Amino acid sequence: MEENKIFVTRATLPPKEEFLEYVDEIWESAWLTNMGDVHNELEKNLSEFMDDMEIVLTVNGHLALELALQSLKIEGEVITTPFTFASTTHAIVRNGLNPVFCDIKKDDFTIDPEKIEKLINKNTRAIMPVHVYGNICDVEAIESIAKKYGLYVIYDAAHTFGERYKGKSVADFGDMSVFSFHATKVFNTIEGGAIALRDKNIRKSLDFLKNFGIADKENVPYVGSNAKMNEFAAAMGLCNMRHLPEYIEKRRHISEVYTERLSDLKGIRLNKYNNDTVYNYAYFPIVVENGNRDELYESLARENIFARKYFYPCTNAYECYSKSFDANDTPIASDISKKVLTLPIYPDLEATDVERICDIIWREL
Ligand SMILES: *Cc1c(COP(=O)(O)O)cnc(C)c1O
Repeated sequence: MEENKIFVTRATLPPKEEFLEYVDEIWESAWLTNMGDVHNELEKNLSEFMDDMEIVLTVNGHLALELALQSLKIEGEVITTPFTFASTTHAIVRNGLNPVFCDIKKDDFTIDPEKIEKLINKNTRAIMPVHVYGNICDVEAIESIAKKYGLYVIYDAAHTFGERYKGKSVADFGDMSVFSFHATKVFNTIEGGAIALRDKNIRKSLDFLKNFGIADKENVPYVGSNAKMNEFAAAMGLCNMRHLPEYIEKRRHISEVYTERLSDLKGIRLNKYNNDTVYNYAYFPIVVENGNRDELYESLARENIFARKYFYPCTNAYECYSKSFDANDTPIASDISKKVLTLPIYPDLEATDVERICDIIWREL
């Protein structure tokens, strides 16, 4: 029964033998974590892949976001988007900072730079935008606002690993970009994450922060966390890196089939792609403009296809924030969260299944 179920994503696994070679090495060395050889090799490999950025590996994307913010040593407000995963907003709040929610653009779901400026006041310290579904934010506009007001920019780049914009790595915008290598992402290290940045001093403090704030045996300059990536996770990353182009190519193909089959369907709106971006095809969102998103979700589920209402609800509508924020302040994000559905997409999804999913959507809308 489980085998017949199609979920929105499925972990991408490298050939098992490739992983087992690393397992043998790790066993031989008995070095399991704390910045071992495999960890360091992955850091170097990712740095080369992302145009020689400084790369700090972490145990997951969420702690990478928390530590990236902590490394700035700021207090006050951070302008961000509510159209994101819980992690982005929680990372801000868990640092004792106040999120200020900016609405999003209707066509690509990223933060609307035209609405950022009026949210800036004397307490504003940073902007934390999110590259949504593989759509890269309007990085030029965000950069000019940040420069004008002296704000830090940390991108939640969890959805955009491997992407490029105008010839540059997606990691090379703002002060830092944070990636997630969770099992459900385009590139996985089982659980994992990374911070990409150019500033060597902040890099150094991040290295301490992920290891309890310890600088050396006798000096602990920071109140750090434990966010180190272990050797097995790093090994999974090295194996998956070898196959990344093939994973993305398969995703591109699936996206093309969806687009071909669904672009004539009147009731839905598809993602708007940008010619300057090289995409990783992480997600395939549809916005049900004419029809009922929840009913479509249920109809698909009855046929064992589990799409996701991603992102629903918006983070400013969460129960834990009900006393602090009002989702009506970001009406576009709020509206889209009630209409969006992300369809199954992963390298091994069969073309016949994609066709079947499209048939159901046509039938239901
Ligand atoms: C997955 C994700 C995260 C969190 O990453 P983890 O590695 O699961 O901790 C943060 N932000 C966004 C937008 C994500 O999709």
